[in-house]
Amino acid sequence: MKYQSTRGQIREIPFKQAVMMGLAEDGGLLLPESIPQLTPGDLDALSKLAYPELAFQVMSYFIEDIPAADLKSMIDRSYTSFTHPDITPVIHKDGVFILELFHGPTLAFKDVALQFLGNLFEYLLAESGEHMNILGATSGDTGSAAIYGVRGKKNINIFILHPSKKVSPVQELQMTTVTDANVFNLAIEGTFDDGQQIVKETFGDLDFKKKYALGAVNSINWARVLAQVVYYFYAWGQVRKQTGSQKVCFSIPTGNFGDIFAGYIAKRMGLPIEKLVLATNANNILSRFVNDGDYSIGAVHPTHSPSMDIQNASNLERYLFYLLKEDSTKLTAAMTQFSSTGKLSFTTEQIAEINEIFIAASVDNEQTLETIKKFHETTGYVLDPHTATGVKAGKDLSGGECPVICLATAHPAKFPDAVHQAIGKNPERPACLDGLESREKRCEIIAAKTDTVKSYLAQNALT
Ligand SMILES: *Cc1c(COP(=O)(O)O)cnc(C)c1O
Repeated sequence: MKYQSTRGQIREIPFKQAVMMGLAEDGGLLLPESIPQLTPGDLDALSKLAYPELAFQVMSYFIEDIPAADLKSMIDRSYTSFTHPDITPVIHKDGVFILELFHGPTLAFKDVALQFLGNLFEYLLAESGEHMNILGATSGDTGSAAIYGVRGKKNINIFILHPSKKVSPVQELQMTTVTDANVFNLAIEGTFDDGQQIVKETFGDLDFKKKYALGAVNSINWARVLAQVVYYFYAWGQVRKQTGSQKVCFSIPTGNFGDIFAGYIAKRMGLPIEKLVLATNANNILSRFVNDGDYSIGAVHPTHSPSMDIQNASNLERYLFYLLKEDSTKLTAAMTQFSSTGKLSFTTEQIAEINEIFIAASVDNEQTLETIKKFHETTGYVLDPHTATGVKAGKDLSGGECPVICLATAHPAKFPDAVHQAIGKNPERPACLDGLESREKRCEIIAAKTDTVKSYLAQNALT
């Protein structure tokens, strides 16, 4: 399998190069040149596999340039850090299926991809004899998942900027209590947007980027999407076993369109997905896109589901490439227009095509808390606020024709304040958070200035 950029200037690169490139050098996103087509027989065979085996089979369709035994051992190691024997268990509650993706070390679904990506980076760097300095900004979940993915790994340093005192206390501690020598937490005196801007400017200095071998973790790495495709197959197999239904719907809390795009790839591979339900919070640019063909940036509103407080969904470009019939000239023109006007609109025919696959709803703060409360009353099960948006949208929109699988993207213990507001008590804390508050911390507070961050990097980077 070879990879190409949505913008058409990068073609026929192998998987390993696509992983190291992250963002395509022409400014686009990397995609496989074709999507493998699975037969019903293939699906049957996959549905019988345990998670790590399944991950190996699904990823092997897309990876030709890593020896099978090496890939297998990397996958096995990635998922031994999960605390549930099924890795991503599926449970039936109140008429829906909950796909629990939060049994990794930082209690959010991002671990599923970042545990694997950390091992993959380490493997590729050992092979090439190179090193990498990862630089990223986080509003909470990506930072800790990326840190846990590469902590203690050879040839990699990681620098994560988070807005000082603006992430949840659990999120902050999950980052700052990692004291491995290759992990650098920088609390910037500014906002998440300031952090993103600093990262963007630092990557924009191409000499600096090259000199320090900067690697991106926010950039939308194909390996992250690929690792997420796996659990759509897994959940389908589990739910088919329980219900006998061939077809399923998935409901996905969405911010950057990454997780839901993995579902789209699974569907294109032949997995019988009837609909992908896209749930947003009040930051509803993506539900407006699906429902009205209106993709226009608004102001970011802080909500109870902060990991979805996003206006510019960087991964949407991948889907738009397919919507525009894989025409990179048209796609490039659309992305240029979007970056100058902050707006794209789509025709009635295009909206109809989008709606064949996606249906969407925006779920506000009040509905989020109400959903957590009701679900808890009915089932005793505590949803996190991100998952709750998906449960609400999934129940409202799926129409009851096929089983609905709701992706549970975070453990409720990461967001105790919102949960407490909804059900009047704190969620149970998993063992990995025990003693979190009293652990040793490592974090530098620095000014939200690109030059300050660059000189910090220059002093602490692997060279
Ligand atoms: C990142 C995140 C999301 C959004 O996922 P995307 O791939 O950006 O759409 C949803 N829920 C949680 C808990 C997250 O951390």
